[in-house]
Amino acid sequence: MPAKKSNAKEKKTVATGPGPDPDQCKKCDALCCKYIGIPLDDPETWGDFDDFTWFLYHEGISIYVDEGEWYMNIESHCKMLDKDNRCKAYDNRPRICRRHAHHECEFDGRPYDFDMHFHSAAELYEYAKKFMREKYNKKRKRKKRAKRSAKKS
Ligand code: SF4
Ligand code: SF4
Repeated sequence: MPAKKSNAKEKKTVATGPGPDPDQCKKCDALCCKYIGIPLDDPETWGDFDDFTWFLYHEGISIYVDEGEWYMNIESHCKMLDKDNRCKAYDNRPRICRRHAHHECEFDGRPYDFDMHFHSAAELYEYAKKFMREKYNKKRKRKKRAKRSAKKS
């Protein structure tokens, strides 16, 4: 399985400090407490893409690429959220939550500037075909070059 052993992805914003609106979180439905991003190893083979396809067959799962790194996005509400979308564990909330700032968080409604975001197996398959074709072409070119230089010597 290509999931890395490393910890869950830091939420997109990790800077701390005052945001444009200090009351922003009060107006929000705690969007940042309703998903988890898990780092994945870069897919290299059809087998890897096949594993990712399996992820995407599940409800609430998407896969995205951010700054060249692959992640699985899991839609899941944190159990520490109360009915008013307040954190029940605020004083002892995990590090990843402490580091999350609201300067440019999910609240403004803009999608993150991910390199790519796959919501379905079909979307991923289109990318995989292109990726594997390019990989095959590169390999073929390398072989040709190697043959040419072997002939010269
Ligand atoms: S940090 Fe952003 S997404 Fe999270 S609760 Fe505050 S406004 Fe909402
Ligand atoms: S621990 Fe609190 S701040 Fe962190 S995700 Fe859960 S509800 Fe949100």
